[in-house]
Amino acid sequence: MHLKKIEIRGFKSFPSKTEIIFEQGITSIVGPNGSGKSNVSDAIRWVLGEQSIKSLRGDKLEDVIFAGSENKKPMSFCEVALTIDNKDGILDIDYSEVTIKRVAYKSGESQFYINNKSCRLKDIKELLLDTGIGKEGYSIIEQGKIDEILSGNVSSRRKVFEEAAGISKYRYKKEEGEKNLKITKENLSRICDIYDEIE
Ligand code: ATP
Repeated sequence: MHLKKIEIRGFKSFPSKTEIIFEQGITSIVGPNGSGKSNVSDAIRWVLGEQSIKSLRGDKLEDVIFAGSENKKPMSFCEVALTIDNKDGILDIDYSEVTIKRVAYKSGESQFYINNKSCRLKDIKELLLDTGIGKEGYSIIEQGKIDEILSGNVSSRRKVFEEAAGISKYRYKKEEGEKNLKITKENLSRICDIYDEIE
C-alpha cells in the first residue's frame, strides 16, 4: 500500500487543480518559504478527516478554502482527493486503488467520498484503522510530533503502538460495542417502563 497521488483544488494556497504524483520511494517537496509545502501535508490530514482547524493552522472553517490573491478571486469551495494503491489488499475494501475525497463549501457543508461514493467520516476512519494513515496515524510526522509523542502521557503513547501493532481496530470495535450495549440497555429499560404502565 502506498500513497499514489494527491489532487488539490481550492485548498489554501492552491486555487487551480494541482496534482502531485508520489512514485515508489522518496518524494521531496521543495520550495521557498511560504510557497505552500506545509499546505500539502495539511491537505492530506484534512482529507483524512482532520476536524481541528487550529491544527491545520487556521482559525475558522473557511480558512482552508482559497481566500483569493492579487490575480485570482476567492473560491467558494475546496476539494482534496488522495489516491492510495491497495494492490496488497491492506485496506479492507474490494478495490486495488482507493480514492478518498473531501469537499467543503464556504456555507459550511462538507462531504466525504470513497471511490466517488459519498460516505461518512466514520467509514473513512474505519477503513484506515491500523494502517497508520488515519488523521491520528503516525504516517504524518510534522514539526513537534516526535516531541509530542515522547513527552505525552502513557495512554496517548500507547495509542501509537496499538496502531502500529494493528490492535486499534479491536479497541474501536469494543468501544462501539459498548456504546451499542448502553443504548440497548436504555431502550430495554424504556420498554420495561412502558410495559409496567400498560399492565
Ligand atoms: P515554510 O517553508 O516557511 O514553512 P511553506 O512552504 O510550508 O512555508 P505554507 O505554510 O504551506 O508554506 O503556506 C503558507 C502560504 O499559504 C502563505 O502564503 C499563505 O498566505 C497561504 N495560504 C494559507 N491559507 C490560505 C488561504 N485560505 N487562501 C490563500 N492562501 C493561503
